[in-house]
Amino acid sequence: MRLSRYPVPTLKEDPSDAVVASHRLMIRAGLIRKESAGMYAYLPLGLRVLRKIIEIIRDEMDRAGAVEFLMPELTNADLWKESGRWHTMGPEMIRIKDRNGLEYALAPTHEEAFTAMVRSIVSSYRDLPLNAYQINTKFRDEIRPRFGVIRSKEFIMKDAYSFDLDEEGLEKSYQAMRVAYRNIFRRMGLETIPVEADTGTMGGSQSEEFMVPSAIGEEVLLLCEKCGYRANQEKADFRRTFPSAEPPENLKEVSTPNIRTIDELVSFFNCDASKFLKSIIYLADGKPVMAVISGDREINEHKLKRALGASELELAPDHIVEDVTRAPVGFAGPINDFNIRTIFDASIRHISNGITGANKKDVHFAGVTPGRDFTISEEADIALAIDGDACPKCGSSMSTTRGIEVGHIFKLGYKYSMSMNLTVLDKNGKAVHPIMGCYGIGVNRTMATIIEQHHDERGIIWPVSVAPFHVWMVGLGKSEEEIARTDEIYEMLKKAGIEVIYDDRPLSPGFKFGDADMAGCPLRITVGKTYFKEGNIEIKRRGSGEMETCPKEELVEKIKEIIASEFGKY
Ligand code: ATP
Ligand code: MG
Repeated sequence: MRLSRYPVPTLKEDPSDAVVASHRLMIRAGLIRKESAGMYAYLPLGLRVLRKIIEIIRDEMDRAGAVEFLMPELTNADLWKESGRWHTMGPEMIRIKDRNGLEYALAPTHEEAFTAMVRSIVSSYRDLPLNAYQINTKFRDEIRPRFGVIRSKEFIMKDAYSFDLDEEGLEKSYQAMRVAYRNIFRRMGLETIPVEADTGTMGGSQSEEFMVPSAIGEEVLLLCEKCGYRANQEKADFRRTFPSAEPPENLKEVSTPNIRTIDELVSFFNCDASKFLKSIIYLADGKPVMAVISGDREINEHKLKRALGASELELAPDHIVEDVTRAPVGFAGPINDFNIRTIFDASIRHISNGITGANKKDVHFAGVTPGRDFTISEEADIALAIDGDACPKCGSSMSTTRGIEVGHIFKLGYKYSMSMNLTVLDKNGKAVHPIMGCYGIGVNRTMATIIEQHHDERGIIWPVSVAPFHVWMVGLGKSEEEIARTDEIYEMLKKAGIEVIYDDRPLSPGFKFGDADMAGCPLRITVGKTYFKEGNIEIKRRGSGEMETCPKEELVEKIKEIIASEFGKY
């Protein structure tokens, strides 16, 4: 490829809307261009990287025994109605109608489509196990598309769906994907940490997310150095310790004019935050519910959602809180006569002589004894684990870090095979529902994340396995003869099968080197004065900056050797 004929529109300035390195560099290196909010076009250089990522994924999926399909992206509403998700998917799913008024969704995911397809092609236990995958576009109307292709409205996903006869089979399929994912990310030069993830309320028994540690990550992870427990904060458990009981005092009302927040209460009552029964009103699937937790902890809304069995959960707006508690916001508490479903965190029963809102303006109760002053109707662990909390497995202190989710593996169970009536005949001729798993990798997000992990102030530093070209060749010749001698070297490399792009543009050396650094191919070779005068070609490694020279006759071997050693790193 000659750069004079290959558009790589690099930019000297950062785009104003790019706040993370990968987004800035993908635009500046001429890999992508923004089409509109949350939508990006790939330019030739970017597309080459995307293709290499896809090839690694495909290779490892095939190796793991999965088989590739290609599903329509326009999915019929009937499919979604069968599983019930037409009504539960919410506004992230983009719905459209055709000229006859038939409804479709631009697929945000393909569980339904694959379940229906597999239903039409399998009939016997002999057809299983089957792990069907595709590499295809997904559409999600994200509330906040951001960070370039890390969270966009249209993206490419590798999604796989496994179908097994029993749990043992599912466990095998799941483990095979777990191994494939580790290989995939390792081969791309990505350090990933698989962490336990929330399985939500929709069934499913086990789930792990593949996280790349990064300060810009949207996920918070809890890690135990000692035993290796790792979980997404949404899911993370922790070992609870509770204060020992004190002799109970009498319940009394205390006037607390305008004292509402835990901080205000702590200084007003001059006691520890753990004494307070923090009571928060939510709307669970539209119905008010109360969640009560000790004042020193925050509620984990994912755990709460699961405990409630709700599919939607949001904080109740002020007017609902006032309606429910018949008091201004800030005075809610579990000692009440209004009929509201209440979930108590595990911390609550251990509070002695606690303090809580009295559901009256400017009044709190003190001397609260759980069980005596109110009934613990429903109890669950709804607390958010934080830095320093004790590991649920070994009790050591856990730390937190941020991560970008690049992949997700999930034991789905029977949700789709049952709701969509997918069955096969087992050995005894009895119709049984296969058990399913699903496995996703965000291809574009993975590409951006590789850049997050591999760049410097001058540009991208591609791991060789996903680099758009292995060699970025800079020609500095000016005379016709020099240019002809440079062209020869380019032809020689091409003929030797080396992935090379040749900067043959009539631009200054400084400009050309700047572009080479920005684009980040593993090797830059320069055909300039040292070659024209002494016959030596300069080879520079983008990663280490190491520089060496060699004569034309040795160039191909030298490059092959270095490229092989670069591959050896991943
Ligand atoms: P997130 O929590 O980041 O929204 P998710 O849980 O919705 O992700 P999955 O449904 O598990 O994601 O999708 C599988 C993979 O697809 C994710 O691990 C991620 O790599 C990728 N992905 C999800 N949403 C987007 C998006 N809006 N843009 C780019 N990639 C995405
Ligand atoms: Mg999402």
